[in-house]
Order: sequence, then structure tokens, then C-alpha cells
Amino acid sequence: MKKICVLPGDGIGPEIVAQALAVLDKVGERFNHSFEYEEALIGGAAIDADGVPLPEETVAKCRKADAVLLGAVGGPKWDEIDPSIRPEKGLLGIRKELGLFANVRPATLFPQLKESCYLRPDIVEKGLDVMVVRELTGGIYFGEPRMDGEKDGQRYGFNTMVYYEDEIRRIARVAFEAARKRDGRVCSVDKANVLDVSRVWREIVIDEHANYSDVELTHMYVDNAAMQLVRDPSQFDVMVTGNLFGDILSDEAAAITGSIGMLPSASLGAGNPGLFEPIHGSAPDIAGQDKANPLATILSISMMLRHAFDMAKEADCIDKAVQDTLSNGLRTGDIMSEGYRLVGCRE
Ligand code: ATP
Ligand code: MG
Repeated sequence: MKKICVLPGDGIGPEIVAQALAVLDKVGERFNHSFEYEEALIGGAAIDADGVPLPEETVAKCRKADAVLLGAVGGPKWDEIDPSIRPEKGLLGIRKELGLFANVRPATLFPQLKESCYLRPDIVEKGLDVMVVRELTGGIYFGEPRMDGEKDGQRYGFNTMVYYEDEIRRIARVAFEAARKRDGRVCSVDKANVLDVSRVWREIVIDEHANYSDVELTHMYVDNAAMQLVRDPSQFDVMVTGNLFGDILSDEAAAITGSIGMLPSASLGAGNPGLFEPIHGSAPDIAGQDKANPLATILSISMMLRHAFDMAKEADCIDKAVQDTLSNGLRTGDIMSEGYRLVGCRE
């Protein structure tokens, strides 16, 4: 039996999570597995109930589970709230609590959705299948010291970008391992021409690469990588980078597919349950209207089966069902175009 802690969160979170669990139930029936779900509060829903975005009880339930499924957090309702208890803090907090240092995001272009891709048609023909591996618990988002204040009559703020060797080695390993199961190429993205932290990053990635000589390793500065990704993404297989650069590049990689409602992600740690979630946000503009695309969350379930439970055949079955749904012409509003049938989240 596999225990899954379910964090529906805010906005469209509860709707899409419900659909994903319905799919998981079907997989359970078909392959004779039993999945047990336990719900917990996070984000705005937790603030409303408990006054904090990540209650202790939620952390405890996640720790006991084999994997965590998350919908999305945040929304305009909590925009004015004290920054220290914003809904997004719930997400940062649970990643930290579970030691989820690697965020893995495949950006895939589904052949059925070619028209929605933002790239030139000749580039689209080459296909788009990039996996961004982003370091998630270090770098400038967590580095100390950090502060904002006032000096000589001026407001100022600063943050610290710091990486330790261990942090770089373990994320590099995730990327090399992933590349082995894919096309065998890793591009490490940094800003080593300007940042000292990036020079160390590059040095350690090269050193770790000695254990993965079957994988091809290249390096690219982040500004160039951002450009190359839109120019011709087929040059990349796995991209590995730090927290800040990864945040931006993984959104960029997803956005060029034109299908933000289609893409899943996994956040993985060592020895703790992984967290699986769609890459999109809580989409407050369409929440509660049965308009959300549940496929990103359904594909997150597929990643959960593959990465957390070693259930490759079951994951393949979900991936195929998603492909079939698209091939049959069903579309939610975000991926709708002429000649297809518009459906809601529940259908
Ligand atoms: P966050 O800060 O949480 O990432 P955001 O405001 O940046 O949130 P989203 O919440 O992802 O971004 O929404 C961006 C746009 O994409 C919205 O117009 C939203 O309606 C749409 N969108 C996002 N996810 C879906 C989905 N699953 N189905 C349909 N539309 C979606
Ligand atoms: Mg966003």
C-alpha cells in the first residue's frame, strides 16, 4: 500500500487534484495497487483555517507519506497579507522541511498541440523535449545574510547567492542520472564569467562529471542559455542550474511549449517523500468554474508513479491516456483551438 499526502491548496488546486486522484484510483483498480490518501492544508487555505501557510500537522502528515501531491497555492485574497506568512511560504517551507533539493521539470511539446507552440515551425518540427533540473533549497533564495533597510536616507535591500560543494554535487548527480535515462546530455547553466559562486559551481560540476563519463557535459552562461532555449531548444537534453536561474529557465522552457496547463514537476530529496505538482499556479481567474486543465496534475501523478513508486508501466498507462485524450480532440480552454471539442476540468 502506498500512502499519499494530498495538499489541494488554493484556486483551481482542489478541482485539478480531485481529477488526478480519480485517475490514480483507476490505475489502482487496473493494476491491483492500493493507494491511500490523507489530505492536509497548505497556502491560503491553511492561513484561513490556522493563521499560518504551513501548519505543523501538514508537515507531520507529509513526512509519514510515501509521496506528496500538491495542487497550487496563493491568490489575490492573500495579496495584502504580512509577507512572512504569504501562501507561497507554505510551498517554500514544505520543500525545505522535506529536504527537496531537486526540482525536475520536463518541458515537452505534445505533438497534438504543435499549433500552440511559440517557436518557428521548422524548429517545432525538430521537437521539444527538455528537462530542467533546478537546485531548490540553496542559492540566493535562502542565502544569509539577507535584509532590507534604510541607509543614508535611501531604502536598500540585499540577498546572498551562496552554494556549497555538497549542494552542487548532489544536484549535478540528479542531472547526470536523469540524462542517462534520456539522451545522455547535460548542459550546466551558470554565470561563471561574473559570479564567484558560479565559478565554484562549474568547477564542482566538472569534478562530479568524472563519475559520469558516459554523459556529455557542456556549460553555458545563463543569458545565452535563455536565448538558445527559444532559438533552438533541440540542442538541450537536461539542463542543470541553481535556484534563481532554474526558476526563470524552467518557466521559459514551459512557456515556449504554449501549454502551461499540461506540464508536471517533481521535487525530490534524499530519503524523504517527493512532492509532485503541476508547474502552473492557482489560476484564481478561472477557479471554481470547471475550466481548469487537469492534465498537468494528472501527469504529475505519472511522475509520482515513475519516480517515487518505481511503477513505470502504470506511469506509461497514464501518459498514453493523456495522449489519447488529446488525439481524440478534447481540449480545455487554455489549449483550445478551432476544430476541437471544448471540455471542462471534470470531463
Ligand atoms: P503563480 O504565481 O502561482 O505561478 P501565476 O499568476 O504566475 O501564479 P498561473 O496561476 O499559473 O500563474 O496562471 C497564469 C494564467 O494561466 C492564468 O490566466 C490562468 O488562468 C492560466 N492557467 C494556469 N493554469 C491553468 C490550468 N491548469 N488550466 C487552464 N488555465 C490555466
Ligand atoms: Mg508564476
